[in-house]
Amino acid sequence: MSSTALGNHILVEFMNCDPHVMNDVAAIERDMVGAARKAEATVINSTFHHFSPYGVSGVVVIQESHLAIHTWPEYGYAAVDVFTCGDMNAWIAFDHLKECFGAKSYSAIEMKRGSVNLLTRNDFDITSAREKAAEWRNPDFYTRNVWFTDKDEDQALSLRFTGDVFFDVQSPFQRVRILESTKYGKMLALDDMVMTTIKDEFHYHEMISHPSLFTLQNAKNVLVIGGGDGGTVREVLRHSNIEKVTMVEIDGEVIKACKEHLPEIAAAFDDPRLELIVDDGIAYVKNAPDAIYDLLIVDGSDPVGPAEGLFSVDFYQNCYRTLKADGILVAQGESPKFNEKAFAELNQTLQGIFGKENAPVGLFFVPTYPTGMWSFQYGLKGSADPRKVTNTDAIKSFVAEKGLRYYNEDIHFSTFALPNFVKQLIQQ
Ligand code: SAM
Repeated sequence: MSSTALGNHILVEFMNCDPHVMNDVAAIERDMVGAARKAEATVINSTFHHFSPYGVSGVVVIQESHLAIHTWPEYGYAAVDVFTCGDMNAWIAFDHLKECFGAKSYSAIEMKRGSVNLLTRNDFDITSAREKAAEWRNPDFYTRNVWFTDKDEDQALSLRFTGDVFFDVQSPFQRVRILESTKYGKMLALDDMVMTTIKDEFHYHEMISHPSLFTLQNAKNVLVIGGGDGGTVREVLRHSNIEKVTMVEIDGEVIKACKEHLPEIAAAFDDPRLELIVDDGIAYVKNAPDAIYDLLIVDGSDPVGPAEGLFSVDFYQNCYRTLKADGILVAQGESPKFNEKAFAELNQTLQGIFGKENAPVGLFFVPTYPTGMWSFQYGLKGSADPRKVTNTDAIKSFVAEKGLRYYNEDIHFSTFALPNFVKQLIQQ
């Protein structure tokens, strides 16, 4: 560092970069930390946030000061600044990032910061500062804060994750990733939405399956649309009365990712009663015969991309047709507090097809879904009604025998007890 200035600051405009890289929080964190290391800086901490629908912001704190970035993937643009107060050559970091980002053009200015001629030095106990600095040399000191954010325009859920990416494939339908969150363990993300995590998946998978199966008591033939992580079929196949489960998942990459990295969830894919089909569930139900399923579970993602049609009237009319006379439909129903419109519209659709009294809503909690309050929506074709179940002893012993962690004989009923604002939303 020159004798006249305390710091050196490079301000960089990276342009015509790869938009996908510009939107990849894990890749950008890796490259920014890599740039600091390449310039032989001592990394203290990295904090990176991914904003959906797009954009990444982050900083790498180094003993020599910092590297910071904000990206606009839609412009293939990244604003970067590298501030050093050591002997570190910031241009080495610049070169590394230019390459990593695939920047086809750039501009950069270098500024000297803290001109000593303009500053007055204070008496300062350098020894304790040195001792503190020595502590930072300990590599274990380095903390990473890489945040994954699932949000809409008004609210968000952010999960800190380790930055490690175990699976990352852009399939014909969506981006399929397996990441590791520090609190909820490994997780499946589709595009930028949390689908399931190791630590709270049981909330969802126990509640999408057992209430209906204890209502039907002797279901034999079940159809699952979606559910590529395998958690729903795992729970359904816990019931010995089940003879056949057909699972129709549109994206083979989801199944592959979960088999490899979430084996606790994808635990039942080898069950001989399971027929696993990679196909569009909407077309499959359209071509399915009449009245063959006891239970039809729609374990689909949010109403965008391949799953949009899983919220349509057509689709549910076909679901109704393919259910047996006393059959039950249960669908991932979105949240009355996040995507309220899709939540309310789905229930109107089910009321229209199954009847006003035959489209109950069950609420439950999933900490890793935005707002944490989520729903399953039912279509009751005949008299089988989960709100009228009496075999609570059977539920109790099943829960104890299988070691279930969310569902039980009380939750079975409380899930249908709706707050007034939800009743108003669905006019029931
Ligand atoms: N628990 C999650 C949620 O609440 O959003 C859903 C989990 S599950 C992984 C959702 C699955 O539905 C995904 O694997 C996705 O590929 C699948 N899917 C989406 N649209 C589909 C369609 N039209 N047919 C079959 N599967 C579909």
